[in-house]
Amino acid sequence: MKLKSVLKCALLMATLASCATPTVPTPTPATIAPFPAVTPIPALALINGTLIDGTGADPIKDVVLIIQGERIVAVGPRSSIEIPEGAQIIDMQGTTILPGFFNAHVHGAYNEEKLAAWAKEGVTTVRDLGAYQWPPSQVLLDRIEKDNRYARLVSGGIFITPPNGYPIAVFGGKGHTISTTAEAPLAVNELLDQGADVIKISMESGRIFGQQIPMLTTEQVKAIVATAHQSGTRVSAHATFSSDLKRAIDEGVDDVAHMIVDPVNDDLIKAMLERNMYWVPTIELWMNVGQGQDANVIVNLRRYVAAGGQVALGTDFEGYYTPFQLGMPTKEIAWLSEAGMTPMQIIVAATKNAAHVSNLEKELGTLEIGKLADVLIVEGDPLQNLKALSNVQYVIHNGEVIRTP
Ligand SMILES: [Zn+2]
Repeated sequence: MKLKSVLKCALLMATLASCATPTVPTPTPATIAPFPAVTPIPALALINGTLIDGTGADPIKDVVLIIQGERIVAVGPRSSIEIPEGAQIIDMQGTTILPGFFNAHVHGAYNEEKLAAWAKEGVTTVRDLGAYQWPPSQVLLDRIEKDNRYARLVSGGIFITPPNGYPIAVFGGKGHTISTTAEAPLAVNELLDQGADVIKISMESGRIFGQQIPMLTTEQVKAIVATAHQSGTRVSAHATFSSDLKRAIDEGVDDVAHMIVDPVNDDLIKAMLERNMYWVPTIELWMNVGQGQDANVIVNLRRYVAAGGQVALGTDFEGYYTPFQLGMPTKEIAWLSEAGMTPMQIIVAATKNAAHVSNLEKELGTLEIGKLADVLIVEGDPLQNLKALSNVQYVIHNGEVIRTP
């Protein structure tokens, strides 16, 4: 996958000066005609906008952000940045410049139409936490990875689960089943080899479905987490009740893919904070499911956020048979706001924190020098009114402008 090369590039960056500028081979002196001089790609300079960089820092007015190739090469107040000669300049007066957004919990994303719809609204990365076709078609991957009109696809492969575990038991969904602890590392490695970027496991005991569903053992989960972490890969767990959340915490999972529906207790919140875990609430899922559980999920999220818990935005798009919002997840954003998250916290959840749970925090999620240039430019100030996030002016994906006003 493209992501793999990006990650390798990130590793290389530790030893090389830059990934953005490939080494130009030294021309052979000679008897043959010299190659024409390589024309560098002109830089793109965004000027006059207000920057929200995704780190949670205060906005910077009258900013200059410079993109060279696919990466950000300079960003800061106008007085501190020199615009390179020959740069293409776009005046961003009246706009806010943000990192490209993520939806960190979707399904059905192996689809060009949906990836294009997300990218067009500034959601330049989605994390698919349970593919409906696996392994995916290489033909499709080749098409979507080479074309910046499509949102970047971070793959969770398919759930690792026991035989007849969730989601096989309930929906007949796909799962990579394991029966023994010895099979756990093999499953992780096979999924990674097949193109998974993160590992998704089931921690579903079945209470929410009114049935008892077989679960992975503690030893199996620990072996999955250990193997994933050895490969620098994070593990996301499906959980819907406190008892299952407790196991996810105790057994070393990195993020929880849904808010739970029974009241969360303080000890669990504290344990999540201590272990630097992230929560992906998927309020849209719970609102779609209904059954009055919405009251608990909003209250749980409010308490978790008030305690300082880290949230990554994700909706569980197509994780249930009801329609979900494609593109900018304005409904989810409104519910996060209802749960007491500030506009800045919501932006960080959709950018920096979502990049973290996607294993991409070194490359994306904030607008900083060296990162990939995924940029969302909206009219107005989302800190004053979150609805501004829908007033998209420009979208830049991997340094390419894919939407203009
Ligand atoms: Zn899901």
